[in-house]
Amino acid sequence: MRIVLISTPIGFLGSGKGGGVELTLNSLVTGLLSLGHCVDVVAPKNSKLFDINKEAKLHLVEGVEQVSWQHQNYYSPAIIPDNSLLSGMLEKAICIGKKADILLNFSYDWLPIWMTLNLNIPIAHLISMGSESSVISNLISRVHIQYPYNFAFHSNTQACDYPFIKNPIIVGNGFELKNYIFQGNKDGPLAWVGRVAPEKGLEDAAYVANKLGETLNVWGIIQDESYASKVEQSCTSGSIDWKGFLETDKLQKELGKCRALLNTPKWNEAYGNVIVEALACGVPVIGYKRGGPSEIIQHGETGFLVEPNDKDSMLSYLQIINKINRRDCRDWVEKNASTNIFANRVVKWLTKVIKEN
Ligand code: UDP
Repeated sequence: MRIVLISTPIGFLGSGKGGGVELTLNSLVTGLLSLGHCVDVVAPKNSKLFDINKEAKLHLVEGVEQVSWQHQNYYSPAIIPDNSLLSGMLEKAICIGKKADILLNFSYDWLPIWMTLNLNIPIAHLISMGSESSVISNLISRVHIQYPYNFAFHSNTQACDYPFIKNPIIVGNGFELKNYIFQGNKDGPLAWVGRVAPEKGLEDAAYVANKLGETLNVWGIIQDESYASKVEQSCTSGSIDWKGFLETDKLQKELGKCRALLNTPKWNEAYGNVIVEALACGVPVIGYKRGGPSEIIQHGETGFLVEPNDKDSMLSYLQIINKINRRDCRDWVEKNASTNIFANRVVKWLTKVIKEN
């Protein structure tokens, strides 16, 4: 197949602003190339693909970014700025798409979904979030009636936010195992990884580290400065070590030294890339039973699941975290979330979309 991937209109690939979508897109490109498919990627200016993906053609587009939907009111209208990056990327994709089999959209936004009704070429949507916008959910429900196969999700729990879809297509996610080195040491510090923004619940992990009198290592882009300083003020001075945003290779080296990752989402997390990245390095995860994490973490085998917001349970599971065999964490990723497993699921889905459109 020749597939045109349309990236997120929030942040260039490599900026960290686009969150998990950046890694997901790169992983899928790796998997699709290794299965012999031809891949074009349309992405914001300054984007870079992983070195391993150099066979994919990258098309860069300039323009004004969208505002992320999780940071807007649920009932906000869809807004397209002047010189819109999103519409520029779509125009480019349609142009390249004349010679392609299908467009695959990664942006959680109104315009590309609406275009499903108006294009000659099929456009499939890998939905990257739970329901964060009324206009988008209503549009998906309308388009889905006519194009029931054009939407896929990362996890069942994420798809539950779209109850009008009775049998959702679930593709999970994929990770290039070669990029993550297993580390067996069980005595390291505590880790938290993610965009520093309210929906990620950093304050709960900070509370846990603070109670233990330990430092919490935090990796990720600070998207909301005032939220970050509120979290910092909620605990003893110096108990958060802000490590900043690192590219995958450096991140995995540091993350692999940790004894556990704490994952504390406050929203219906679509998947939770950082959980799998930690597991790939051999780091067990204690996470909230909310969204994707509840389907990834194998309770008692690769970490522990606790009821959402139950920080004290998180504390007690930390006492027994060394009972988890770090090899089992890595094994789970190899068996369930490699780039090839992911790409095979996506190809099966796209083949169905092409057939039914
Ligand atoms: N990430 C990174 N470097 C960092 C911190 C985070 O590359 O220092 C990436 C991480 O690899 C993951 C993404 O940020 O792919 C966060 O994705 P996740 O699915 O956990 O959450 P999202 O941001 O999509 O809500």
